Amino acid sequence: MSTPLGPLDELAREASGCTSCSLAATRTQVVFSRGDPAADLVFVGEAPGRDEDLQGEPFVGKSGQLLDRLVREEIGLERDRFYVMNTIKCRPPGNRDPRPEEISACSGWFDRQLALLQPKVVVTLGNFATRVLLDTKEGITKLRGRSYPYRGGVLIPTYHPAAVLRGGGVPMAQMRADLVRAKEALLATAGARA
Ligand code: URA
Repeated sequence: MSTPLGPLDELAREASGCTSCSLAATRTQVVFSRGDPAADLVFVGEAPGRDEDLQGEPFVGKSGQLLDRLVREEIGLERDRFYVMNTIKCRPPGNRDPRPEEISACSGWFDRQLALLQPKVVVTLGNFATRVLLDTKEGITKLRGRSYPYRGGVLIPTYHPAAVLRGGGVPMAQMRADLVRAKEALLATAGARA
């Protein structure tokens, strides 16, 4: 007899057949998540790129390698100890920006995903995810540098690793500082539970 699927696996299975927007016609596959679904720390990016569309996991290309390295160096967690997902689950062709109708078509998936995960700390990567989750038009440069109450935990906005790869030293130092803020938030929730 096969083991019954947990609610997150069930959601991923349901999402894998999604045809709610036109990205269904051009994607290789739906990219749902990677990492530990029981983790207190969840990163939310924008949308899968070419590598992610082909491999079926978020942040497996150059941006993901930088993310994994910075999380290891600043928080001390290896890539299988945190959870990674995107706001949009299918690759926009040519990596163009997601369109409003694609964002609204996908919102039910990430909403249900986050409701099942109940993370203590959510780190949004870049303008897009931060604006969608905080429901604001403000830019990442203004929003980063502090934490926001979010779904019973905290949300910490930081730069997208692709922007750090382009921007070099200053955004890199700021992203490191944001990850230290995330580590402190994780330690505070662990302390509160002890
Ligand atoms: N950029 C994102 O926002 N998400 C990915 O999965 C890869 C690159």
